[in-house]
Amino acid sequence: MSINGKVTTTDAVIRTENLTRVYHLEGEDIRAVNSVSLAIYPRQMTAIVGRSGSGKTTLLNLIAGLDEPTEGEVWIMNQSLRTMDERARLALRRERLSFIFQSFGLLPLLTAAENVGVPLRMRGVPSAEREARVREALEWVGLARRARHRPYELSGGEQQRVAIARALAAQPQIVLADEPTGQLDSQTGRRILELLRRLVTERGITLVVVSHDPMVMAEADVVHELRDGKLVETRYKLA
Ligand code: ADP
Ligand code: MG
Repeated sequence: MSINGKVTTTDAVIRTENLTRVYHLEGEDIRAVNSVSLAIYPRQMTAIVGRSGSGKTTLLNLIAGLDEPTEGEVWIMNQSLRTMDERARLALRRERLSFIFQSFGLLPLLTAAENVGVPLRMRGVPSAEREARVREALEWVGLARRARHRPYELSGGEQQRVAIARALAAQPQIVLADEPTGQLDSQTGRRILELLRRLVTERGITLVVVSHDPMVMAEADVVHELRDGKLVETRYKLA
């Protein structure tokens, strides 16, 4: 594909080839992801869309190395997940990837600032640097004044902003978001989507959003559509 000049598959941040995940359930085989080959390019918003049950979450988990393919392969920055052991995959997830979930995924007993700091603690970032990064990330999402609030003291949109701040503070190259607007009303969802777009334009992040929200499809630079686990169409936004 080509957007600004020539782009080749080696430029891809994420690549899958014939990626397949079969679940065995009560004697039945479910091809949740069925031979999907795609490439995801840097500094773009890529949407993976399709109805409920079409395989979006399974595909995202395979890309994140949280699940193992039955067949096929995933490359993250030209490194095959298959050739990495669990420790290397964990390191990759910690250092390069951040996640945003439909249900926000915040720890209920921690404040917004503490939630944003969790991934930095796990990585052993020294406390002064951690505090600076937490503050900057909360400011960036417009929640500096909510730093001491706990999730139950925040609206859904605010909780998702905290989750975006947490993703950002980890300084990832890739952010994977699973139905990030799924629990929000459309106006709040629109604002979250604008913030996600800014991750790409201002922070240079490669963003993959799994969604069946038409707003997400309209905003994305590239849309990959799944049906029954198969990639049926890829659409590019006109520049
Ligand atoms: P989506 O995120 O698009 O709604 P999923 O990836 O969650 O779709 O699911 C794709 C298909 O795989 C569905 O038919 C679902 O029922 C099935 N599936 C998902 N996870 C499992 C599992 N752990 N065991 C068995 N079947 C599963
Ligand atoms: Mg899903």
